[in-house]
Amino acid sequence: MRRSLGVQVFVSYLIVLVVGLVVLAAALNFLGSRHVARRIEGSGPRFGGPPATNIERIFRTGVADALVVAGIAAIVAAGALSIYVTRRIVLPVQALAAASQRLAAGHHDERVPVQGTDEMGALADSFNTMAEALGQTETRRRALLADVAHELRTPLSGIKGYMEGLSDGVLEAGPETYGRVAVEVDRLQRLVTDLEELSRLDAGVVPLTRQTVPVRQIVEAAVERLRQQAYDQGLILEVAVPEALPAVIVDVDRIQQVLLNLIGNAIQYTPPPGRITVRARSDGPRVRIDVEDTGVGIAAEHLAHVFERFYRVDRSRARSGGGSGLGLTIARYLVEAHGGSIRAASPGPGRGSTFSLTLPSAG
Ligand code: ADP
Repeated sequence: MRRSLGVQVFVSYLIVLVVGLVVLAAALNFLGSRHVARRIEGSGPRFGGPPATNIERIFRTGVADALVVAGIAAIVAAGALSIYVTRRIVLPVQALAAASQRLAAGHHDERVPVQGTDEMGALADSFNTMAEALGQTETRRRALLADVAHELRTPLSGIKGYMEGLSDGVLEAGPETYGRVAVEVDRLQRLVTDLEELSRLDAGVVPLTRQTVPVRQIVEAAVERLRQQAYDQGLILEVAVPEALPAVIVDVDRIQQVLLNLIGNAIQYTPPPGRITVRARSDGPRVRIDVEDTGVGIAAEHLAHVFERFYRVDRSRARSGGGSGLGLTIARYLVEAHGGSIRAASPGPGRGSTFSLTLPSAG
């Protein structure tokens, strides 16, 4: 059961009040007791003087005695309560403040003990959750830096190698060598462009201008742009989208970018003579688009990872193809920003792949 801190503080004040009332009641009881009556009756020898003055003195002494007892009781109660409040509130707050400072200084493994089920316990729990989230962000940031450094190294080593070959006279200073350098520079450029795009998507600063568009229109526009490339590589690129399909509510440029990436990948990973088919169909309140190829396929253990940044099933092959390894990561961001989903399926290596995305339909 959750005990509220408010209730605990209220109970503390109540205890002080009860102690005060008990001491007052005890003092009144004492003043009305036989002991006092006896002192009034036999007051002559001790106090001397007229009885009225004696009564007043005895009353004052009684009240003073009662106040001393009340004072001591109140100090003891206040002391006990302040120890309790210090242990329940002040010490945990100090521990939290110290832990926050260590966390800010970069110690992401910093945690505080969770004591009790009241607000202090909840605060400590929230702090630990926040520290955990910060730690994970930091781990991802480090991994990203390491990945980027690794991705930059390959084209840079290539360029360095060509330059050394040129200056040593091992490579001929002709269009072929310059062309190879240009390919590496293109790769770097693509990597930087995709990283920029990913960081904008990650920060959520990419506005989507949604409009209602027939699916066929978006699919055909993307297919048209890649038809020649597919043809040149000996591949058949076809569209199977029924006319009567409901329209989708999307940012046309962004969804076209996703389709270009999926069809581009299908072209890259399908050896001739192959076939790439872009299908679309209604799927409840959504429209589903499949990009299906008869290419190299993807083994089951890689399927779940292909949307991770820089993940490549076959590193050397994908790099030589010139991809940044961020295409599917960006595609997933864009589709999810539309409230849709994207997934990959393949019966296995050498048996083709299908990338499917769903988008909200206009009804
Ligand atoms: P890349 O720039 O390397 O193409 P992507 O993010 O677009 O990066 O793809 C990630 C990886 O997924 C690719 O390296 C490749 O191994 C695999 N992949 C993507 N599309 C296909 C496909 N149609 N057939 C087989 N493998 C694919």
